[in-house]
Amino acid sequence: MGRSTSDTWLGPTRHLCALPSVASAAMPFICGSDEHGAAITIRAKKEGISPQEIIDKYHALNKQTFEQLGISFDHYDRTSAPLHHETAQAFSLKLIEKGGELEERLSEQYFDEEYQQFLADRYIMGECPNCANPEAYGDQCEKCGATLSPMELKNPKSMLSGATPVLRETSHWYFRLDKHGDWLREWIKTGVLDGHQHHDPATWKKHVVGQCLSWLDDGEGLQPRSITRDLDWGIPVPMPGAEGKVLYVWFDAPIGYISSTKQWAADNGKNWEDYWKGDNVELIHFIGKDNIVFHCIVFPAMLKAHGDYALPVNVPANQFLNFEGRKFSKSKGWGIEQHEYLEEFANFPNKEDALRWALIRNLPENKDADFKWDEFVDFYDKDLADKLGNFINRVIVLTNNYFDGNVPMPFIGNRRIADF
Ligand SMILES: [Zn+2]
Repeated sequence: MGRSTSDTWLGPTRHLCALPSVASAAMPFICGSDEHGAAITIRAKKEGISPQEIIDKYHALNKQTFEQLGISFDHYDRTSAPLHHETAQAFSLKLIEKGGELEERLSEQYFDEEYQQFLADRYIMGECPNCANPEAYGDQCEKCGATLSPMELKNPKSMLSGATPVLRETSHWYFRLDKHGDWLREWIKTGVLDGHQHHDPATWKKHVVGQCLSWLDDGEGLQPRSITRDLDWGIPVPMPGAEGKVLYVWFDAPIGYISSTKQWAADNGKNWEDYWKGDNVELIHFIGKDNIVFHCIVFPAMLKAHGDYALPVNVPANQFLNFEGRKFSKSKGWGIEQHEYLEEFANFPNKEDALRWALIRNLPENKDADFKWDEFVDFYDKDLADKLGNFINRVIVLTNNYFDGNVPMPFIGNRRIADF
């Protein structure tokens, strides 16, 4: 299963996939839309419609785009589904029940007095302390790529009212990620989990392991992470005294892999637990490198803390696909989205195969790759039309000339395959 946000880029950038399987059963390939990001509420505000209308529009568009491109999942779900809300709430309550995994902490956060609400990181804009970009977000500067906290921005402004926000005290639940560093390091380095060989670390891509180890070992190591925030869009926090708060999207989104499997199993007469619990489960996430840390460190720590679920046996993350020499950027209008490609090439025969081949041919498996229109044309003309087209044409001509247009039965030695 995977997740797509409201953008479906040309490249394999934003789709997170998991492939839970057991040896004795078919392997479901599951993906879905991640619908609780703060960007959704900001876009809704800009377009003057509700967040629900935004997610309905993009979920339908993403699903349809995959279908049109011939990319098929066993199940394509969405995190606004009631079954997902229920599953994510039960997950957080189980962590409370276990004790020691979640703790409540008071902190100061920016508050918009005009709108009377706390501001999620993405709702705050200000000057980047690193590169002086005046339009850096509270969590990240898109110009220099620095990861930020809202407190680091100079001249912060609320994106709701445009006013300078004030600091107010609020309480949030934190996941004690800091307690999970030791076993994660052993698991990622050696594949050993709880004293057993869980997977072969040699099968993991080097850049995946490298990024995880530098995250675990650099600076202050793992820190507790807030799993809740003050926002009116998302899954209500089920803990007492948390009214008006929702689960942070980073926490609920990967639990979507579990809830989507539940839905797929219910629709297909399967037991979902066969795909998430026990020693025979093989969970594989197909993602881009910007999500390595979440799928190799944060989500496995959540699963281990919960205690009932299997951990991924591999996370074969791809690197980035760039576009004509630069990073895809929605805010800078650089790139093309999959549905735009389909519209742009509406009258072009086999446009789906042309794109799929160009992406496979140029897959950024171990280093960044670049999508260029010149190469796209070459891949189509030289690989598909010339090589593959000529091969097929020659086979048909020879079959017509020498075998009366019937495909002959192949031989091994002097015996026909059918005789074996
Ligand atoms: Zn910057």
